[in-house]
Amino acid sequence: MNAYYPNELSAKVYWCPILNVPVFDKDYPRRGEAIAIKATPPRDLRPAFGFDYLLTRRLLAEYFLSENELNKLLPPDKLILLNKIPYPDAADEIIIGGQVIGHRFFDLKDYKWRFKPMYGGVAKVLSEKIGYYAVVNLPKITRGYVIHRGDIVESELPGKGNYVALGTINGVFQGVGKVLRGGRVKVVKVWRSIKFVEYGKLPTWKDVVKVNEEWMKNREEEAVNFLKEIYSRGNYGSRVFVSFSGGKDSLVCHYIAERALGDLPLLFNDTGIEAPHTVKYVRELADEEGVRLIIAGCDNRFFRALKVFGPPARDYRWCCKVVKLAPIVDKLRSIYRGGKSLSIVGQRMYESLSRARSPKVWINPWMPNLISVSPIQDWSSLEVWIYLSVVKAKLNPLYFMGFDRIGCWLCPSCELAEYEIVRRIYPELWEMWENYLSKWAKGRGLPTSWIRYGLWRWRKIPGDQTRLVGKDEVKEIEDRDEREIKVVIHVNVSSEDIRGLIVADKLKEHLPNVIKLLPIMGKVIEIKRDIVKFKAGNSIVTLSSDGDLKITNGYELARIRDLAKLLVRALYCVKCNLCYNKCPNGAILMDENGGLKVDGDKCSHCLLCNDICPLVKYSKLEVHLSTITSSNRTNK
Ligand code: SF4
Ligand code: SF4
Ligand code: SF4
Repeated sequence: MNAYYPNELSAKVYWCPILNVPVFDKDYPRRGEAIAIKATPPRDLRPAFGFDYLLTRRLLAEYFLSENELNKLLPPDKLILLNKIPYPDAADEIIIGGQVIGHRFFDLKDYKWRFKPMYGGVAKVLSEKIGYYAVVNLPKITRGYVIHRGDIVESELPGKGNYVALGTINGVFQGVGKVLRGGRVKVVKVWRSIKFVEYGKLPTWKDVVKVNEEWMKNREEEAVNFLKEIYSRGNYGSRVFVSFSGGKDSLVCHYIAERALGDLPLLFNDTGIEAPHTVKYVRELADEEGVRLIIAGCDNRFFRALKVFGPPARDYRWCCKVVKLAPIVDKLRSIYRGGKSLSIVGQRMYESLSRARSPKVWINPWMPNLISVSPIQDWSSLEVWIYLSVVKAKLNPLYFMGFDRIGCWLCPSCELAEYEIVRRIYPELWEMWENYLSKWAKGRGLPTSWIRYGLWRWRKIPGDQTRLVGKDEVKEIEDRDEREIKVVIHVNVSSEDIRGLIVADKLKEHLPNVIKLLPIMGKVIEIKRDIVKFKAGNSIVTLSSDGDLKITNGYELARIRDLAKLLVRALYCVKCNLCYNKCPNGAILMDENGGLKVDGDKCSHCLLCNDICPLVKYSKLEVHLSTITSSNRTNK
């Protein structure tokens, strides 16, 4: 069980012993007969197909020693369900006939997928003596115990480091062990013996779809009515669209929306790091379905911003603001001119805990005029797949190539197993990214593990990844991680006038950009070569390109922090336009190269433009009360 995932927020899915298929109603077809599938929460089961199906069968065939032996458990083309489980990389429970028969996981040490038999799988192996197993002459086995060769009475052992099904000779306990040197086996997990129950002929995917078609028609109707209701409550007119990622959930939304509200445009955000198959697929789908495709594009913006921010990380997702949010804001503003609009989104509660706690309708925190609604918030992945089969949807081909989610191909949220698919399908793209990472690592003296184990995906490396390389190496990596833009202001408040020193790269070079944004702080009253003076409240602030700061008539420290925010924007702007779109007074002007200038006559000093900037969110801005010495002065 996933201890972190509450059972009440997990999907309910049962196995019908009569029809031998998964169902969503425990009373189907007869009251109380369907059996809850004992999978790890949130139990968002999905069918294996394409590459995933072949991979899973290959792993099983290796364990069962031949296709023929495997066929005793799983005849060809019969249903395999997968269920994601917590692990340092990609890992799934494998479910056959409604029972978990083992885990497949991507082994980070060997860089390959492996299989571990569990529960139903161990029971089947032991009862039929197929594949790898060991029967031990001990009354009981416990986790961590090392079974010696002499205690194994019957076995077919795999090589060292592999997993093996275990059973005690008295039949009371079953478990799984890992083979050590000399044929010894370390017990990894133990449970009281169970049986693998065979309810009859295993189903194909077609059987699953047929049995659940009626259920999905009802689910569709619920979703359609819900969407109609939400639409009727707002005054959206034609300002309604489907947020389309090219993935399965937004595809369902497209069909639901079509049935509820007629043909609606699909809004696709091309981040510039979408998988090429996705971009092609989205265009083809819109074309074939005859719906309008709105593309919020941001061309090379990711790679431009990469030069400023460095590689994105799970705890440093600057790109979500720069290449996801910003282009959408731009596009919606140009189409709907800031009017209230409704976005239909394929968000589902079983994707993550934060989504489980999200309402079905919400106001976008970055765009208060944009209402988002998910008509499939409580659908499970299995329902989504069945529905798409019922409506014979055209699917993104990436699902057949091993991806189970669609998005940016280099996203730090991906597992290494997913990067292996990228490497296989798009070798040039992956080579380009690895070259970039290698250069970055070399320039900072980072060890090879930073790339090999994908440690670049975090700035603060989590515990389960630390175990791969050890604490010392992780500390060294974290100490050398320079993915942070820094602006520091030292302030000496002991003198009558406040003196300060700004420490920020590029200040000398970009003082003109600073001057262009200064009206948000107050009125610029004098510009003399490399010195600028501005009035903010009663204070007069003098700032030089060397970083010297002088404030007369008092000043609040919070305002000095606002100045630090302004500086990081002026010195590093990645031209995302978020501030431009946010300004309530239209006070930000933009030149043809995306350079910003604030019109002091229009500006109300609300500072919203400072706070929305991704540079402000992801930089280290520090204000120190200190005595200024020459050692503070490191400006370039
Ligand atoms: S790469 Fe990941 S974190 Fe970055 S924009 Fe894409 S989804 Fe967001
Ligand atoms: S957002 Fe506020 S502070 Fe920024 S330019 Fe507009 S009015 Fe001025
Ligand atoms: S200053 Fe404005 S345009 Fe530049 S990065 Fe910040 S929000 Fe984007």
